[in-house]
Amino acid sequence: MFRRFMPHILVVVALLTVGLSGSYELLSHALVDLRFRLDDRPASGEIAVVAIDPRSIEAIGVWPWPRTQHARLLEQLQRAGVRDVAFDVDFSTPSDAAGDQAFLNALQNAKGSVVLPAFKQLDAAGKDTSIHVNRPLPQFEQLAWSAFVNIEVARDGRVRSYALGEFCETGGRRTFLQTMGAFLAGSDAVKDNAFLVDYGIDPSSLPKVSYVDVLRGDETALARLKDKRVIVGATAIELGDYYSVPNGRVLPGVVLQALAAESIIQHRTLLATSTAATVAGLLLIVMIMLASWRHLSAARRALLIAMISIVIEAVALVLHDRYALVFDTSLLQIALIAYLAATALDEIDFRGLLRHVAESRFERIAMSIGDGLVCTDQDKRITVWNPGAVAIFGYGADEIIGQPFARLRADGSDTHDLFPRQEAALPATLLPGGATVEFDGRRKDGEVFPVEASFSAWQGADGLQYGVILRDISVRKREAERIRYLAEHDTLTALINRNTLQTDLAAMIETADAASDQVVLLVIGLDAFQEINDMLGHAFGDSVLRAAAQRLRAEIGSMGRVARLSGDEFAVAIPCSAIGGTVAELAGHLSQLFESPLETGARQQRVKVSLGVAVHPDGGHNADELLSNAHLALCRAKTDRRGSHVIFESAIRHELEQRLTLEAELALAVEREEFELFYQPQVELLHGHVIGAEALIRWRHPTRGLVPPGDFIPVVNTSPLSEAVATWVMATACRQARDWQLAGHDIRVGVNLSPSQFQSGDLAAFVSKLLTVTGLSPGLLELEVTEDILLHDEPGVLQTFNRLQALGVSLVFDDFGTGYASLSYLKKFPLDGLKIDRSFVRDVLTQADDAAIVGSTVSLSKQLGLSVIAEGIENQATADFLLRLGCEHGQGYHFGRPMPAADFARQFLAMDATDQRQAGAA
Ligand code: C2E
Ligand code: MG
Ligand code: MG
Repeated sequence: MFRRFMPHILVVVALLTVGLSGSYELLSHALVDLRFRLDDRPASGEIAVVAIDPRSIEAIGVWPWPRTQHARLLEQLQRAGVRDVAFDVDFSTPSDAAGDQAFLNALQNAKGSVVLPAFKQLDAAGKDTSIHVNRPLPQFEQLAWSAFVNIEVARDGRVRSYALGEFCETGGRRTFLQTMGAFLAGSDAVKDNAFLVDYGIDPSSLPKVSYVDVLRGDETALARLKDKRVIVGATAIELGDYYSVPNGRVLPGVVLQALAAESIIQHRTLLATSTAATVAGLLLIVMIMLASWRHLSAARRALLIAMISIVIEAVALVLHDRYALVFDTSLLQIALIAYLAATALDEIDFRGLLRHVAESRFERIAMSIGDGLVCTDQDKRITVWNPGAVAIFGYGADEIIGQPFARLRADGSDTHDLFPRQEAALPATLLPGGATVEFDGRRKDGEVFPVEASFSAWQGADGLQYGVILRDISVRKREAERIRYLAEHDTLTALINRNTLQTDLAAMIETADAASDQVVLLVIGLDAFQEINDMLGHAFGDSVLRAAAQRLRAEIGSMGRVARLSGDEFAVAIPCSAIGGTVAELAGHLSQLFESPLETGARQQRVKVSLGVAVHPDGGHNADELLSNAHLALCRAKTDRRGSHVIFESAIRHELEQRLTLEAELALAVEREEFELFYQPQVELLHGHVIGAEALIRWRHPTRGLVPPGDFIPVVNTSPLSEAVATWVMATACRQARDWQLAGHDIRVGVNLSPSQFQSGDLAAFVSKLLTVTGLSPGLLELEVTEDILLHDEPGVLQTFNRLQALGVSLVFDDFGTGYASLSYLKKFPLDGLKIDRSFVRDVLTQADDAAIVGSTVSLSKQLGLSVIAEGIENQATADFLLRLGCEHGQGYHFGRPMPAADFARQFLAMDATDQRQAGAA
């Protein structure tokens, strides 16, 4: 509504502004002046000008002229037969008496046909600006007419209007005084109305003669004046009586008076039309515009406005020419100009301009971003295609603009699933953007690739528009794929890793459960892989693993899953229904698989494998359990059945659990100091003298009572507690021996070593320190080692032995004869003696073999210079027999069971001690 009337309101506002400020006057004058220019009419010829021109001034010489000159002029004019004479020369002040008299006489002769000027002056003497009328001298006025010569200058400095006369107060009487022009024109109107002088009358067509010519009685000059009304006045520039008039002309006052008179004579006293006509004209224009605005194009409207303008001016010209009416068309023309401007403004689509600016900015951004940016119209036809999109899809903008968006899809299918929904109810704003979606795109060369796109929509000038940001995510996808592969696979062998196996196993179990099937999991460990790695290098180790993986994969194929669990462990998971045989057969088959050497590049490597097998559901309800149980079985296989397989059964776990409980209890026992050392006597078989004691550990369990070492030492030795327990045994035994030594009993104490003491720390340094701290003589300490100690880390053990012996401590080989290679150790290690194992002693009386072994061991020892002691002597007969075989020392229940230190001291040391003390005293 408001928009509809906008141009008209604008026009009215413009008119009011111009009208109230009065600035339209300029245009108004310009238009009237133009009409004067177009109108060229000659003077009537009734009025002639006698010009006081430069020639006259030059001829007469002095200025002001003596009035005698004017008197003579008047006479000459009479002679020429003029009708009236008007002087535009000041007669208000007296001059020389002769001149005044001469002029008075001339006036008398002229018989009332002369008019002299009166003019209004601001009374300069008075404080107030009262107007004073300067009239001709009274003596002149009695014989002549007087008339106003005042010329009113308009605001723009031009003379436009002229009055017919003016009322003025003279001697308290209100009289009417004509203007000189009205007088010359013979007007009899008694009105002070002003009119516009018609400057269309050509001033040059006024008959004009030079004052001096008349004065000299020039006949042609006088002839031109016959029967004319004559006005006499200055035209010489130097006399300064000049006025600006329209169209840039300057006229002498006398010519102006003549033109005013001419206007009256020719009935060209121009009058302005009333304001009502202007208002009516304006209303008419506004109405025409209101009626036609919507129906006309801008060009037609402009044409209409121009035509109205011309018509108005034509009418004004006719009024001016024919009816002497001045129609002020300035406001009408201003209204029309305003309408023209409104049309132009209407035409200049500012919104469009702004949109254009925004669009060009958008275009710049669109062209510079790396992502593909595509816009479509509401039919999903592409309208914008940036360089990013060119790079992604390969189409140039010229090839794709105008094409449907569906062309970018791999399958070319409809795109309604991609674009945001078209909510018609939404106002002209941005529609909610579609979420990021992925689809398969097709490049120009046909390549299909993944695209990520985010859509937005907005209401544009041409309906709904869509914007799509497109991104080629093939690299990202590939990268993600690679990361996923890395997360799921073992990079060395390309087999799946433990995590993936776990997931796959879970799925396999679920399927098996549904089909009442079973799942077998085999964990395969390469035996002695560490050695291969150490001896042949890691790169070679890697190739062995790769070859093993390859062999497993080739064997299992699609039957199941093959994974690498860790360093040298693989796993195979297969549903039982797929194996076509028993689980044991499969396990056997897999271990046989590694009987032929692995191809590892140039070299062939033979490996053995141990297998741990667990079968779901008995061997584990879920993937986790199955894996852990198969692992347990593998551990068992590695310790008990190297190179073969163990199928998990609950007993294995049970043992393990027991072991774990025991370990926990042992840890507590260490804390609570529940261990004790018992001592078993070692004697000289011939006399029965106690020569030493073996320290044997006991665990005083709070509920189970005394626990023998066989029940816990193997666990201790393979647990982290080993070190602490061994240290305690050694320290306690040394302190005890030192106590006995201090009490005067040089009892050699035997201490059983555990393997951990050779693996960690420095045993020799520890023993040395202990000897120093306790002050025990090194000769009273005997360390017992078993074959399992000698088995490992030979060079290290050898070095420790040497250092221990250097301290003066003796080393004996415990349980001699039970191991596989007892004899070879005698050669390898620097030992001081050996203890014949109880198993040979027990039946030595009845078993000839045992007797032979004991006999030869004894003689071998003697030859090698080693001490020898027999363990497990339970009766005197055995002791005697051993003595006969050459064995001089023994240990066994027959001499005494292992017992607390106090009991040992009481039973075996008291007497001796007393003896020794007595001997010492003596
Ligand atoms: P070992 O070193 O061979 O100790 C001798 C074992 O034979 C002791 O068993 C002892 O009680 C037993 N014995 C001695 N004479 C006879 C006999 O006449 N008849 C029978 N039937 N047995 C006899 P114990 O005390 O049960 O110790 C068993 C094994 O535990 C020891 O064998 C030793 O290898 C280990 N052991 C004991 N104490 C310790 C210790 O403090 N540290 C370490 N590392 N091992 C220990
Ligand atoms: Mg022992
Ligand atoms: Mg022994």
